[in-house]
Amino acid sequence: MKKPTKLIHNNAGTGTRRTVNPPIERASTVLFPDRKTLYSATPGYGRMGLGVHRELEAAMCTLEGAAHARLTPNGLSACTVAIGSLVEAGDHVLISDSIYGPTRRFCERRLKTMGIDSDRFSPRNIGDLQSKLRDNTKVIALESPGSLTFEISDTRAIVALAKSRSIRTIMDNTWAAGVFCQPLSLGVDVSVQALTKYVVGHADAFGGAVMTNDPAIYTSLENITEDWGIALAPDDAYAALRGTRTLTTRLREHETTALVLAEWLESQENVTQVIHPALPSHPDHALWQRDFSGSSGLFAFLLNAGSKDSLDAFIDGIKLFKLGFSWGGFESLFIPCDDQLTRLSGDWSRSKDGYLIRLHAGLEDVGDLVADLKGGFDSMASAKTT
Ligand SMILES: *Cc1c(COP(=O)(O)O)cnc(C)c1O
Repeated sequence: MKKPTKLIHNNAGTGTRRTVNPPIERASTVLFPDRKTLYSATPGYGRMGLGVHRELEAAMCTLEGAAHARLTPNGLSACTVAIGSLVEAGDHVLISDSIYGPTRRFCERRLKTMGIDSDRFSPRNIGDLQSKLRDNTKVIALESPGSLTFEISDTRAIVALAKSRSIRTIMDNTWAAGVFCQPLSLGVDVSVQALTKYVVGHADAFGGAVMTNDPAIYTSLENITEDWGIALAPDDAYAALRGTRTLTTRLREHETTALVLAEWLESQENVTQVIHPALPSHPDHALWQRDFSGSSGLFAFLLNAGSKDSLDAFIDGIKLFKLGFSWGGFESLFIPCDDQLTRLSGDWSRSKDGYLIRLHAGLEDVGDLVADLKGGFDSMASAKTT
């Protein structure tokens, strides 16, 4: 069976009454019939996850081609748990410079207090990565494409380098959602997703998942989540499981709409660069073609607004795309993101002039979305002339 079929038929149903979806068990306490089962049955307590959690883990394994999945309450905790499960005091971690900001902050602020050093490497530069390797480097963590600047890393080359030095690799796969890329099949040890984005898909719940094929890593993931008390609430697990049923279908629509918008933006005179890996103009297009089977709804462009006031006029002229963080839901969103960039290594998108604007193409009619963006350009033009 293909992925969309498997994601719909994961639930075989149990017991005498079968329903299409599993019931949400809202439970801390699980009850046992006798002393023997009290101490032997699993799960013995709601924090370990109940029926819906097991189905969501199975769905995430299907998506990512993984043997094991561990759930966390949000995407950030999935990233921190993945890294934390592979390091101890005295170790060194390398993170790509395009990685999700709060993950970087975890490494640079929290890991530091635990005696673990970190450095950032330029996501497109293997030489830079190589020069930052230390004898105690234990983990290389990347996000590809980075969700603000959309560089694609040469994951296979990074994996080869890491394997030659027994370094573990982690990839944040939220952009491709397990539909357009399976990092484990590229040799990555651990794939991470913020379920909050495409899997939940409706901007109404949080969730995270960490996938691996390595039983020892999985044991370490179990231990760290148990030790730190990290668990996903049953209602959020349900929202994520429900999202998996329509994920592949929704992503096809996000993909098509984003490509129409990206191509339209490329023809706009005040756009200096459209940064979308599926466009031939993207500097990492060939890597994207090699490692990805499609593209999702999130990309960026450089707007030659001239001044902050013109940028504000552009933003004010846009009505359907909403200003807000996150992405992956049914709604179109956009943010100017220069304020978020804290790059250490060279940033290729800066080679052209313009404000970096990130778009998430939602599930609205694409013609309405183009008209909406046009409203932004019109508003910017009239601000310039007045
Ligand atoms: C949003 C996001 C996260 C964090 O997910 P939350 O559920 O918001 O904590 C991690 N990685 C990427 C790439 C994200 O976009």
